[in-house]
Amino acid sequence: MKDSITQDGDPVLRAKAKPVAKADLGSPALGKILKKMSNALAKEGFGVAIAAPQIGESLRIFVVSGKVFEDTDEESSDVNADTSQSGVEGEQTGSHPDLVFINPEIVKLSRKKREMSEGCLSVRGKYGTVMRHEKASVRAWDESGKPFTYNGSGLLAQIFQHEVDHLDGTLYIDKAVKLEDDTKRSELRDKHHA
Ligand code: ZN
Repeated sequence: MKDSITQDGDPVLRAKAKPVAKADLGSPALGKILKKMSNALAKEGFGVAIAAPQIGESLRIFVVSGKVFEDTDEESSDVNADTSQSGVEGEQTGSHPDLVFINPEIVKLSRKKREMSEGCLSVRGKYGTVMRHEKASVRAWDESGKPFTYNGSGLLAQIFQHEVDHLDGTLYIDKAVKLEDDTKRSELRDKHHA
């Protein structure tokens, strides 16, 4: 059975992903890629985010699952206060839409780091511990090309670092201070894969 998410060993995960051209914003081709990413993520019970290389597209895009914004009480101090995505939520009141980051750049990192548990949809069956900055700010474009900055802490900061690593061809297993079999952790509720 073929995994719909690219797995460690696939060269696309080790390539430096290419920036999305401004001219491609709003194109049906890009829309299709974004949809494919959200659909792949929605199928993963522990999935919190996904990067384009994980669906085989070497492009600088990642998507964070809306459930991350529901679970964590993140102080989302957006610079232009425009990621509220009014009108995007549709019928499902209370459910947060997935958040798309195009051509993301980490613009600020806290000096403080801590050990965080981490898993990856492209490294099935493993779970590790990685040193991550406690806070990370990302500047990116939304689907229409409007720039925004998102300040994340905790899980969201961890996701930002994990996803930007993906776009640079790095997997968390390269940095993990500890790596173990996933089955040992199956009883833990705070399991996240990105
Ligand atoms: Zn990953």
